[in-house]
This record gives sequence, C-alpha cells and structure tokens, in this order.
Amino acid sequence: MHRIIVSTVSLWASALGAETFVCDNNIVKVETASPDLAQTVCTHTDTALAQFRSCNLPDPFPLGIEAVNSLENNCLGLFHCGENRIEVLAPDAMTALRLKQSLFNAIPTDRLFASVILHEMAHALYDQTPCPFDDCVATSEYFAYTQQLSGLLPQDLATIENQIDPEHEVSRDSINAMILLMAPDRFTLNAWEHFSQLEDSCSYWRGILHGQIVFDRVHP
Ligand SMILES: [Zn+2]
Repeated sequence: MHRIIVSTVSLWASALGAETFVCDNNIVKVETASPDLAQTVCTHTDTALAQFRSCNLPDPFPLGIEAVNSLENNCLGLFHCGENRIEVLAPDAMTALRLKQSLFNAIPTDRLFASVILHEMAHALYDQTPCPFDDCVATSEYFAYTQQLSGLLPQDLATIENQIDPEHEVSRDSINAMILLMAPDRFTLNAWEHFSQLEDSCSYWRGILHGQIVFDRVHP
C-alpha cells in the first residue's frame, strides 16, 4: 500500500475540491479531488519508474500529474514541456473518449489509463535531453510510444500489433514529425515496428536519452 500525504500546498490553481497528494516515490504529486484516484495514479507512476529503472534509465525530475475531465484535441494525456506537469484524463472521461481512438480502443480503460501515465512520464524523462533542433517531437513521441507499448500486457499489445501489416517494411526515415502530424496512428505503428526489431531496446532508449539517437532533422 502507498501512504499518501495530503499536502497543504497546492501545485496549481486547482479545480474545485482538488487536493495535492504526494506519492511515496517522492517524485510525483497528484492533483485530484479523489484520494482513491490519487492512489491509483501513484501506483501507476511506481510501475512507470520501475520500467525506466529496469533499463538503467534515470528518474524524471519531480513532476505533477493532474487528473482532468477534458483535454483539447481529443488528447488522453498531455505533458507540458519545461513545466514538469502532466494532465491526464480521469478514467471516466477516458472511457468516453477511448472508443473514438482507433489504435487503443480495445484496451480496457484502467489499463489504458496506466499506459497513458507511462507515456506522459516518458515525455517528462525525455524533456531532460537537449534537442539539437528547434524541436525533437518525433524523437520524444518515439520514446513515449515505445515505452507505453512496452508496458502493455501481451493481450493488449496484440490488439495493436494486429494492425501492423506483416508485409510492411519500416524504415528509420518513416519515423518523422510529418507522419506524426498527418497520421499519428501510422507513426505509432512505425515506431513499434522499428523498435521491436532492435536487439537491445534498453541501450536504444539510453541512446535516445543521451541525445545520440535523434529522429528529427532540420526543417527546410
Ligand atoms: Zn506523446
């Protein structure tokens, strides 16, 4: 069980009734009106940290996670770069939106919720890596999606892998900001197809975090 401390200091201008809970891992604070939901989020952040540490990746800087009831652009979660702040749709709101997602709609909400937290925490971790260009959005999303999919149960991952055409051959060039923008599901499938062919995924993730592997390029 996780001991949750109710902090008297609010991280942000909070929604009505929301409180700040400090997770036992001392890395994450959760902003929500529900102690039960705070507990759930803390547990999911522990799982995410364990996945990072199992590959000898560093911890992200301390960050805040706010459970919200709506997000713009039909997002399930959002990392605010430079602010160490994550917004994630609360499970009830995520259920309503999940069925509109083409890639993740077969994954039950509780497990999708955990995976979105992992995805956003991966963004927080990559935010510590310097980018040689204006932005490194493709690299950041590659890192976040491959972390997210790596944390799925096999039966959930299978619902996504089923959408990869076995005849399709992925190239490193097909992981880029343009495809991310125009066809985000295609980007995720390309990233996973590429990542699953790697011999040493942990060292690849470390290479990304060290800034040695970058999918982005100079925009013309
Ligand atoms: Zn993302």
